[in-house]
Amino acid sequence: MKSFDLHTHTLYSDGLLEPSELIKKASDIGLAGIAITDHDTVDAIDEAIRASENYDDFTVIPGIELSCIEKDEEVHILGYYIDHNSETLKQYLTQLKEERWIRGKKILMKLDSLGVKLPIADIIKESKLNNFIGRATIARNLIENGYVKSIPEAFERFLDEGKPAFVERYKLGIEDAINLIHSIGGISVLAHPGLLKRIETVTFCIEKGIMGIECLHSKHSSDESDQFSRLCTERGLIQTGGSDYHGDEEILGTVTVDLDQLKDFRERLK
Ligand code: AMP
Ligand code: MN
Ligand code: MN
Ligand code: MN
Repeated sequence: MKSFDLHTHTLYSDGLLEPSELIKKASDIGLAGIAITDHDTVDAIDEAIRASENYDDFTVIPGIELSCIEKDEEVHILGYYIDHNSETLKQYLTQLKEERWIRGKKILMKLDSLGVKLPIADIIKESKLNNFIGRATIARNLIENGYVKSIPEAFERFLDEGKPAFVERYKLGIEDAINLIHSIGGISVLAHPGLLKRIETVTFCIEKGIMGIECLHSKHSSDESDQFSRLCTERGLIQTGGSDYHGDEEILGTVTVDLDQLKDFRERLK
């Protein structure tokens, strides 16, 4: 059995590890490979592939997790085996990143006006190093500065939709995201459907041509996984899985799939 964790983040989005540190950790725990699926960026991919060359038989799958919107709910669409050097992709990502910066600064200003005093200039300076500012970045700063005790608490009190420091940002439509992934040779997969509020979105994604569903995820119950797995069998979709490792919790490799068992993935690999 060759185990692949198909959902991981690096510090080029809201993960904590450098690509090379992530690869080392994944190899140390015996994984055959990982997909790097940073939010709205592929900046880690080349570094990760280079790092993987230091290991015998360790595979890095170039991936992405795109932030999308459907009926006011945030939906994440994963792309695997994408051409991460594609110009079309770059154009989309540049826009998503610019919008992230605008939103990040607005969140920091909102927090400031709520009396939450964070070292804004330092946060921006540090985030610029990896060209990424996310809500998890801000959540960690809220912990460091003693305003909350955990990331979930930061979202619950300040950052989630409907909370006092929430700021909307530009996201792709689901159909656009799926088409973009396909246009650059990728496999499109609906991420962690068990976390959706509107379960109808799963059907919507299938209608729009999604190729797979992330049935296995660290936040899915076994009942949820089984339910999505049955749906995939019925609809002829690829079943994927991954931990959604960010570096805060020790979950890397706790959710894996064997790529050799995934026929459609295997064909892509040829
Ligand atoms: P962003 O893309 O910057 O809006 O941030 C979304 C990310 O924040 C998600 O991918 C998760 O990693 C993280 N996140 C969102 N909600 C929560 C939560 N309630 N607890 C912990 N992390 C969360
Ligand atoms: Mn994240
Ligand atoms: Mn996600
Ligand atoms: Mn993720």
